Amino acid sequence: MRRAVVMGGSYAGLFAARVLGDFAEEVVVVEPDAIGGDGLGKRTPQRRQLHALLSMGHRRLEGWFPGITDELVRDGARLGEGEDVRFYVDGRLKAPVPEARMLGATRPFLEGRLRRRVELLGNVRFVRAEVTDLVLRGGRVAGVVTDDPADDGLRDADLVVDATGRSSRLGEWLGRHGWDEAPVDRMRIDLGYATASFHRGDELGGTVIAHSSPGPASDYQPKVTEPGALAAVEGDRWSVVLAGYADHRPGPDPEEFLRRMRRCVAPIRTVAEASTMIGDVVTYRFVESRRRVHSRLRRFPGGLVVTGDALASVNPVYGQGLTLAALEADALAAHLRTGAGPHAPALGYFRRAEAAVDAAWQLSTAADLAQPHVTGPYPRGYRARKWVADRLTEASVTDPAVNAAYMRVVHMEAPPTALTDPRLLVRAARVLLRG
Ligand SMILES: Cc1cc2nc3c(=O)[nH]c(=O)nc-3n(C[C@H](O)[C@H](O)[C@H](O)COP(=O)(O)OP(=O)(O)OC[C@H]3O[C@@H](n4cnc5c(N)ncnc54)[C@H](O)[C@@H]3O)c2cc1C
Repeated sequence: MRRAVVMGGSYAGLFAARVLGDFAEEVVVVEPDAIGGDGLGKRTPQRRQLHALLSMGHRRLEGWFPGITDELVRDGARLGEGEDVRFYVDGRLKAPVPEARMLGATRPFLEGRLRRRVELLGNVRFVRAEVTDLVLRGGRVAGVVTDDPADDGLRDADLVVDATGRSSRLGEWLGRHGWDEAPVDRMRIDLGYATASFHRGDELGGTVIAHSSPGPASDYQPKVTEPGALAAVEGDRWSVVLAGYADHRPGPDPEEFLRRMRRCVAPIRTVAEASTMIGDVVTYRFVESRRRVHSRLRRFPGGLVVTGDALASVNPVYGQGLTLAALEADALAAHLRTGAGPHAPALGYFRRAEAAVDAAWQLSTAADLAQPHVTGPYPRGYRARKWVADRLTEASVTDPAVNAAYMRVVHMEAPPTALTDPRLLVRAARVLLRG
């Protein structure tokens, strides 16, 4: 492959560029916003919300950029291991998972370091421009048009990757050239998010991550604690995020944010009592999860791949987006390793990527459907599956082995089908009967 063009230089674009660097003579990343340092990028407002990187995403990051964890920690990020990573459900601390490993860092910090490592790759260059259209020739995407009059050879590419995020205009561009847009699955969840920073001292000892979510008890008793999470991040700060659905979305008022933190699990309450807030509360509204299913199309141009939020964007509460982008980059590498030519429709890529998306979608939408205001669509067998998932969640609170298996699925290291392993189900049943 002579030249690959990646539209969008955020997470999905950077991961794709890393992978394509192994297959193409030249990779060009086209990104209009300044990313890295304090560059927040106006097209990605969620950059200012707390972002967790799941274990699987962290493992891929370290695999592609050896030594990046040490570099991040040296520059101020925190690495949480074992009991430093605390997950709560229905207000109860879950059994510890000794192999747990999670980074505490803000998204701009992590993204800036990641971009620097991609810039060092030698055959990847960045162009500061906005893509405005595709070039199609002979049934394939053969390049992109940008708002930069110089255009710099971008109209001539072997493979084009759409990594422009949730607001991707790919459907509109394909339509202009007589191609159909991929069908979209949607689930309306009406989620509100709010993030604030606090000075960090030694209020919480070694805790790096604390994450609290509603569980089975929320179905039959009033909310015990508010859902939320915190992370120890660079610059000796805590980053705290609160989430709520429909009428319970958190607002930007700092006093209300603190009151809500005091109704959360112990680590978040402690930070509300002991630490001082820095700056504003930043809110974000996430109306719906959505995924574009390319395998349902009868025809699709060659030379084109879609990744990251442009492909699928799921409820952020489960922290899957960045890891999903990494798994999709893996899918691209696996597809190209088969010897598939870049000019052909990338059906093999879409099949692999959609399998990763499906796992994330199943997990997040199953939990979303338990919310009273979410109206579906419900998959077949939903009630039975939810009953089993609730029992596993209960057993995972007290049993380290059940929790380890459960967390491997949450961290996307294992597919959701791992939760139907009969040995796991028997163990969970024993734990609950003993209890
Ligand atoms: C509130 C919130 C909290 C979240 N929390 C987490 C979390 O804890 N953990 C997690 O893993 N995920 C989380 N996510 C999901 C995560 O933010 C996304 O999955 C991730 O940003 C996807 O990366 P991306 O590169 O696909 O898209 P984006 O990050 O949206 O980046 C798209 C890039 O494309 C560029 N672009 C756009 N249009 C063009 C164009 N025409 N030409 C060229 N470039 C263009 C933009 O400038 C941008 O840089 C959260 C999301 C939200 C909304």
